[in-house]
Amino acid sequence: MKRGLFKAEAIILNSLDYGESDRILTFYTLEHGKIRGIAKGARRSRKRFVGNLEPMSHIDLIFFHTEKSELMRVEDAHLIESFPNLKVDIDRLSRGCYLIELVSEMTREGQASPPVFQLLSGFLKVLDNGGDLDVFTRFFEIRLLAVLGYLPHLAGCVVCKNRPDEPLKKFSSERGGIVCRSCGIGVPGLVPVSSGTAGLLAMAAKLDLDKLSRLKVSQAFIDESERLLYDFIKFQIGKELKTKRFLDKMRSASVRA
Ligand SMILES: [Zn+2]
Repeated sequence: MKRGLFKAEAIILNSLDYGESDRILTFYTLEHGKIRGIAKGARRSRKRFVGNLEPMSHIDLIFFHTEKSELMRVEDAHLIESFPNLKVDIDRLSRGCYLIELVSEMTREGQASPPVFQLLSGFLKVLDNGGDLDVFTRFFEIRLLAVLGYLPHLAGCVVCKNRPDEPLKKFSSERGGIVCRSCGIGVPGLVPVSSGTAGLLAMAAKLDLDKLSRLKVSQAFIDESERLLYDFIKFQIGKELKTKRFLDKMRSASVRA
């Protein structure tokens, strides 16, 4: 990126208070991928950004970039979509936070990928409109892995390439896909997955949002794919996601209640 003033369509991934009155923000933009910037006086002058710099919001961003600083300077922000329902319902909000943390952790700064932007803005809209939270979170994970080029091997064995007829298969994040019984011997951390779930995940990885909305899934799919996908994501990024821990805590609290 050259020195100068730029315009971008952005989703706000993160916002941190900085110093007396500034904010440091992370954006995922359609044009430039993930970028970070500073909004000077964002907390002092409410008029200037009028609440347009909240995490998850979809905005038109104007920023100034100099080669000297890693942080661009936020000049202006206009709200395109605030996803109001997402932000008032704790179940939706926590899923939305999970989506943005996932994008933040799985992407690198300065690598543009319009499909990632489209995916994130599209799924935030679905969650805001009342789409099934668990189902769409799983679909988001598999689609994000697919567009970033991390899709695990879900048809047949990733090691020997055979397609053994096993109704209950085993998945290895370390190997990057399903392993057959003999290739799975001695491999730690295998995750069980039924043929149905593996097939549906492979299909969902290729579908756009419109077609995904028409897929019917079972509770078994939701449970199996959650475990498999999160295990794989954790292996890829090398750590737990903060929002996942929060989601698990919320779930165990609601089971106890
Ligand atoms: Zn094998």
